[in-house]
Amino acid sequence: MFRALILAATNLLASANPQVEQTLSIIKPEAVEHGHIGDIEAYFESEGLRVIGAKLSHLSTEQAKEFYSEHKECAFYPELVAYMTSGPVLVQVLEGEDAVAENRKIMGATDPKKASAGTIRADFGTDIQQNAVHGSDSLKNAEKEIAFFFSAEELYPKD
Ligand code: ATP
Ligand code: MG
Repeated sequence: MFRALILAATNLLASANPQVEQTLSIIKPEAVEHGHIGDIEAYFESEGLRVIGAKLSHLSTEQAKEFYSEHKECAFYPELVAYMTSGPVLVQVLEGEDAVAENRKIMGATDPKKASAGTIRADFGTDIQQNAVHGSDSLKNAEKEIAFFFSAEELYPKD
């Protein structure tokens, strides 16, 4: 009972004081190819996420394989690697309150057909594979993914 009260109070405090976080975002090859970088940045910035690091990169097969290694047993993995290396991507670090969850909300569901109206994937995704953007799915993965692409000197946090 006492534990439950403490937990409830902690959750209440956390929702009242959202943490400033950093998350990794990738604008995927087809969205870069179709000239949607500017449009997509507006979705992040209008929701209070700041770009604190960014680079265009044409991923190598090794990089794409490692980045998406959690999916290596999936049937779509070889196609995913081929897709992610098919052209340059914009890799960036977004910063803001609850940035990890906020970015996932702005992105929408993996399958653009199932993504809510007004999300990036609903507006710019082509299909379940070519879905315009990647976003870290947890704070732990965000830290790992940011370190995969950026050194500390390449990031410009607000504070
Ligand atoms: P991401 O990790 O890119 O942010 P996500 O977390 O929404 O996407 P995951 O399940 O991690 O979804 O899938 C990684 C990526 O693999 C998807 O974004 C998509 O490009 C591709 N993918 C996922 N499911 C399928 C599928 N069934 N068929 C083809 N490609 C898929
Ligand atoms: Mg994922």
